Amino acid sequence: MAEAIEDSIIRKVRLGKSNLLVSNIALGTLPFASYRTSKKDLSELILYAYSIGINLFDTAEIYDNYELLGRSLNGFDNAFVITKSYAVNERDVDRSLLKAKRLMNRDVDIFMLHEQESILTIKGHMKALEYMHKLKERGDLKAIGISTHRISGVRGVLAFLELIDVVMSIINYAGLGIYDGDREGMESALLDCYNANIGVIGMKVFGGGHLTRSIDRAIRYIKDLDFIHTFLLGVETIDELKLDVSLLCGLQVEETLLEKSKKKTRRIEIEPWCTGCGICVDRCGQGALKLVNGKVEILFDKCVLCSYCAQVCPDFSIKVV
Ligand code: SF4
Ligand code: SF4
Repeated sequence: MAEAIEDSIIRKVRLGKSNLLVSNIALGTLPFASYRTSKKDLSELILYAYSIGINLFDTAEIYDNYELLGRSLNGFDNAFVITKSYAVNERDVDRSLLKAKRLMNRDVDIFMLHEQESILTIKGHMKALEYMHKLKERGDLKAIGISTHRISGVRGVLAFLELIDVVMSIINYAGLGIYDGDREGMESALLDCYNANIGVIGMKVFGGGHLTRSIDRAIRYIKDLDFIHTFLLGVETIDELKLDVSLLCGLQVEETLLEKSKKKTRRIEIEPWCTGCGICVDRCGQGALKLVNGKVEILFDKCVLCSYCAQVCPDFSIKVV
């Protein structure tokens, strides 16, 4: 199977109106964020990903993993890097880009505004966006975009087609993590972006880990979404990547990989941006969550990994790792 993957199936696609030829599967590095407790070997994973044709790698300022990613990508000159920032003006953009370049010791190819909610949020970041556009015209960036969990964020892109090249959005069969509607609404918004020649990147295809127990179904769903140029896979290990790529490419799957995936010990984790609203605590029928000094604590011995808490979290702060 490894040879079959390496022979490959991973295609290069033009990312919308940008000139970038990117792999139709990309690697997300959220599992390697500095605040994630389980650390695996990113260098090995990137080496393998690159060897099977993956050339697009995603991070964000908030993941705090620039140095690790930069070291792991050292020597892969044809790789493209996406990063995201909450910049609202020129100074923020300069500060974010400088930090990313310095810590990664390489250029940023695609720079995005992180977590844009709607046309109004994008307007609120207009100074940053116009400046990013200038940087692109100067040749300092290859493409610019936004990331979002909202249909209204994706639709907001359509109002700024002259400035935005790429949209990165949550999409999965359960509609998990879409803040303002359902899967069908998101599909329709992304299709409109695709038809407007915007590069479309799908993320959270396993719903932040909550859909990994239905991995076949999750992959079957995204395989048919031909209005998405590339999907981010946020995996931790080579075996997980092999499994996902095999399923996506319709290759025969090694039983051992499936078994390993099923047997993997999983647990929920609360992301640092949790606001302490307490909604998840009320939803958990197992009494596995409690609020302590405005922060959620998990009682792992009570958690049955039902994911109900994740479905009600307004900030998509609960992941299964
Ligand atoms: S996954 Fe289920 S049991 Fe575990 S904390 Fe969330 S709601 Fe409670
Ligand atoms: S629902 Fe989400 S944001 Fe609110 S306390 Fe729970 S994890 Fe934090």
